[in-house]
Amino acid sequence: MPTSERSKPRARVIGRRAFLSGVVATAVAAGCSRDGGGDDGAAASPDGASDDVPPETVASLPPLPTNLPDDVFALGVASGDPLPTSVILWTRLVGDPLADDGGLPDQPLPLRWEVAADEGFADVVASGDTVAEPALAHAVHIDAVGLEPGTWYWYRFSIGDRTSPVGRTRTAPGPDDEVERLRFAFASCQSYQDGFWPAHRHLADEDVDLLVFLGDYIYEDGPNPDAVRTYESAAPVDLAGYRRRYSEYKRDPALQAAHAHVPWICTWDDHEVRTNYAADTPPGAGRQGGDRDFLDRRAAAYQAYYEHMPLRVDPPAADGLTLHRALGWGDLARFYVLDGRQYRSDQACDRVRDVGRSCAEMEDDDRSMLGADQEAWLGDALADSDARWNVVAQQTVVSKLALPVGDGEVLNLDQWDGYPAARRRLVDMLREVDNPVVVTGDLHASCVAVVTDDPDDPASDPLVPELVGTAISSPFPGGVAAMAEAAVDITPNVRYADAARRGYVVCDVTPGALTASFRYVATTATREADVSTGARWSIGAGDPDPRPV
Ligand code: FE
Ligand code: CA
Repeated sequence: MPTSERSKPRARVIGRRAFLSGVVATAVAAGCSRDGGGDDGAAASPDGASDDVPPETVASLPPLPTNLPDDVFALGVASGDPLPTSVILWTRLVGDPLADDGGLPDQPLPLRWEVAADEGFADVVASGDTVAEPALAHAVHIDAVGLEPGTWYWYRFSIGDRTSPVGRTRTAPGPDDEVERLRFAFASCQSYQDGFWPAHRHLADEDVDLLVFLGDYIYEDGPNPDAVRTYESAAPVDLAGYRRRYSEYKRDPALQAAHAHVPWICTWDDHEVRTNYAADTPPGAGRQGGDRDFLDRRAAAYQAYYEHMPLRVDPPAADGLTLHRALGWGDLARFYVLDGRQYRSDQACDRVRDVGRSCAEMEDDDRSMLGADQEAWLGDALADSDARWNVVAQQTVVSKLALPVGDGEVLNLDQWDGYPAARRRLVDMLREVDNPVVVTGDLHASCVAVVTDDPDDPASDPLVPELVGTAISSPFPGGVAAMAEAAVDITPNVRYADAARRGYVVCDVTPGALTASFRYVATTATREADVSTGARWSIGAGDPDPRPV
């Protein structure tokens, strides 16, 4: 087994689907180097500052500060984006997590990482030295390469005599492996002030291979003294502010436990920047795109997101952060991780809160949810797939979810309902693969629905099943929960809805079926609460209409 990755090549190609080119080594910052839209390991490994560095680089660092804090790993560890022979390992060093500079001196710090085949680290199979740079808030993204496919590992970091908590992670099966079972959880929307995270406590006990997080990892609101727990950090508007906000979330032991349990595959939604923003346009009626203040704020938010998540992507550049990518799980499943925020057309019809009746502007064929480049990438990636299940992991509800009001209907124009031409293009792409399934966040309610053959006509034939997971802790407005559930009861393409409960979804995937268990916590008013399965729905291979089990 490899013992050090110091001599690893600057770029690798793993798997059959290396249709992405443009792998370019970068010497300046951490992260993979590629031209957008990673695919099953076709991306380069992270390189430069946050990966392994030559020993003389570590040796030339200034001496460790004598006052290195005891709790330098107070934000925990994480792993993500598993490939058959590698996985991303993450941590961020801090002194005072809520201080502007994280409470550490403005200097590079040496950091050692280890991956072992056992929890006690008797059998270390990969290790290396890296440098945590102040420019990345002393966060690192290690691409631990040379691992065995389909294998569990344990990992940890150390600096001086401080050692991090131990995380558990795993690799994906090889691209041609015949896989009989995958179990993954998906989750979203963890508003800190709106509740504790017993859901994460239970996620850390679930027998799952990975967790897919669908956005709203942080919220950008200010402190609310009447909340279940009140932010110590002000509403973020700049890099220091967003870093503080991530620190405040990541200090939570339940969230740390869920990260340390399995690798995560993450995308974002709106609240990582600003509620209901669209590309370069802040929310609200009369909004304009391209405002310098908003673009600066967005750049700060993207930077902080990159720094704090276990992502196999390039660090953000001047024009944004490329987040969409595909990850395979043997011959059984492939995940397409989408970004429905960064490139979308502005919400149509100029509503204050993006809810209302449709309007002519909505129907414009040029309107996009994914942007032209990501849409083309997704089409190519789907056309190239021979996976049994093709799981589209994304933010907002794809299925038509119109609520009848009077003699008309009301739509959430922030969802795909507000982008009908883009949805038709998505549906046409999904016709080309076996067993497409959409998993969705954003709604703060659970839903089982189908995207129909004519996605604008909910009474047409089922085509693509959609599983919408409820929030970890973010609320659905209590006053309208019953009304919303009643309305979806009469919506022909919606099979199940529950707006009252918070939690997550566990999906059992076999060649024959994908079965979703909706796991609900009893309350989010306390740190600990029981969890139970509130509903189970199964999608049979070849049959897009979900059935209760
Ligand atoms: Fe949310
Ligand atoms: Ca959202």
